[in-house]
Amino acid sequence: MNQTALAFLAHPDDAEFLCAGTLIRLREEGWSVHIATCTPGDCGTMTEDRWRISAIRTAEAAKAASLIGATYHCLDERDIYVVYDQPTLRKAVDLFRRIAPALVFAHAPKDYMMDHEMASLLARAASFAYGAPNASPFPRDPGSVIPHLYYCDPIEGIDPHGNEVEPTTVIDMTAQMNKKTAMLACHASQREWLRAYHGMDEYIESMKRHMAQRGKRIGTDAAEAFVQHRGHAYPRNDLLTELFGRATGQRPASGSANS
Ligand SMILES: [Zn+2]
Repeated sequence: MNQTALAFLAHPDDAEFLCAGTLIRLREEGWSVHIATCTPGDCGTMTEDRWRISAIRTAEAAKAASLIGATYHCLDERDIYVVYDQPTLRKAVDLFRRIAPALVFAHAPKDYMMDHEMASLLARAASFAYGAPNASPFPRDPGSVIPHLYYCDPIEGIDPHGNEVEPTTVIDMTAQMNKKTAMLACHASQREWLRAYHGMDEYIESMKRHMAQRGKRIGTDAAEAFVQHRGHAYPRNDLLTELFGRATGQRPASGSANS
């Protein structure tokens, strides 16, 4: 069975906010894990030029990935200018072709900024296409499949109209919190830049708050939530719930044993 997962997201640190806990759990189960970003995070600074911040942020992303033995990739598009067009889609399909994922994490189709929405479209299109023999010049891995595709929460769990997104899948992350926090903390440059730009010095705390919010849905201290893509040709069984539905570190619900 193909046990390769790919988080294909817009910016360095998006995976660490949105799905790193699940990636940690997949690694614990022996999966190969890849984290790809569309950009090197070249606008994520108030002080550095685009080249220096790109070098800093890709190094931070690679370090975070290395904490769980994952591989980091960057499509080398530019912050704010991620688009769904033929050249970018070709790069995405080629990346998927080389990785041959059976499980893909993408941004929510509707999110707070367009880079995320464009990256979501790229992930959807590339996941559908990469196994088609003529879709890419790279050799086709025999394990290529149309993967399980999960959309991560939009930032703050709300769509651009402010409505909370209703997840199909909520996975307990209580036992993964420390490692997920360590991964996010690798993005030291962003803790500082968000403090400067948003007046928010809670880079880590905001992640923990959101995970606690999602955890309430399943009676645990922390969780990650997803919406599964179940369109034509995609697998419709909820693989994540099948793998991790047994809550670990779950607070016993009143009146029911939890062993
Ligand atoms: Zn982002």
